[in-house]
Amino acid sequence: MKIHAIQTGTVLIKKSQLVGKGAGFARQLNILFDSEWVEPLPILAWVIEHPEGLIVVDTGETARAAESGYFPAWHPYYRMAVRLNVAPEEEIGPQLQKLGIQPADVKTVVLTHLHTDHADGLHHFPKSEIYVDGGELAAARTLLGRTLRGYIPHRWPDWFAPKFLEFNEKKAGPFEQVHRLTRAGDVLVLPTPGHTPNHVSVIARQDGVSYFLAGDASYSEQALLERKVDGISPDKAQALKTIDKIREYAVRERTVYLPSHDAESMSRLEKEIVST
Ligand SMILES: [Zn+2]
Repeated sequence: MKIHAIQTGTVLIKKSQLVGKGAGFARQLNILFDSEWVEPLPILAWVIEHPEGLIVVDTGETARAAESGYFPAWHPYYRMAVRLNVAPEEEIGPQLQKLGIQPADVKTVVLTHLHTDHADGLHHFPKSEIYVDGGELAAARTLLGRTLRGYIPHRWPDWFAPKFLEFNEKKAGPFEQVHRLTRAGDVLVLPTPGHTPNHVSVIARQDGVSYFLAGDASYSEQALLERKVDGISPDKAQALKTIDKIREYAVRERTVYLPSHDAESMSRLEKEIVST
């Protein structure tokens, strides 16, 4: 098994999105009216070369995100609080090809959640089996999802009909129920609610090391270690509970922690740096 990080451009967000400020709905308003931006963050996706087939975790952002009209023009978050920068050759399809992998050969795609910077590369995988959490898919399609929560389901490919994750396998440490993705049982999907209520993460285990593909369970390893919740999570307590579960997992298992927007994730993967 070999894991590659794929950076599909960068995203600029506000400081109060990186680390939330205030309580309740004020946390989201604070993001809009914050005048301070953070340094550009990577938008990471992952490919696992597994003997049972290629697995992609998240699909990154599309170059189209910079075109006017791609996001709903009325939406305050897209107008005021996020800037995406992706070149066409930085999309996940061309980057897989650079690694010698044809997107059409990808057997399985897992989406940690359906936010735009994780789902916008879906069009590269019409032939793959795609897994999402059923609750996440339903939430993204509701009025609340399409407005306050910022999902853009009208950009999903027409053919998008994912399979639902089923968490009915034995536990992995503090995570009571998991979805086993491989027959070998070495790639697991587990609920990590918080950033979205049905957010999931993926653990790939090899030689006693757990590669923890965390999506946005926390924006960085630092945020995990300092128990800092982002400004997007609708339920701060739930996000903290997940952060504590991941910390507990990392105490029990040698864990390389790999969130999607951590500038250190790529080097942590390369050097196999274990989080302590
Ligand atoms: Zn997200």
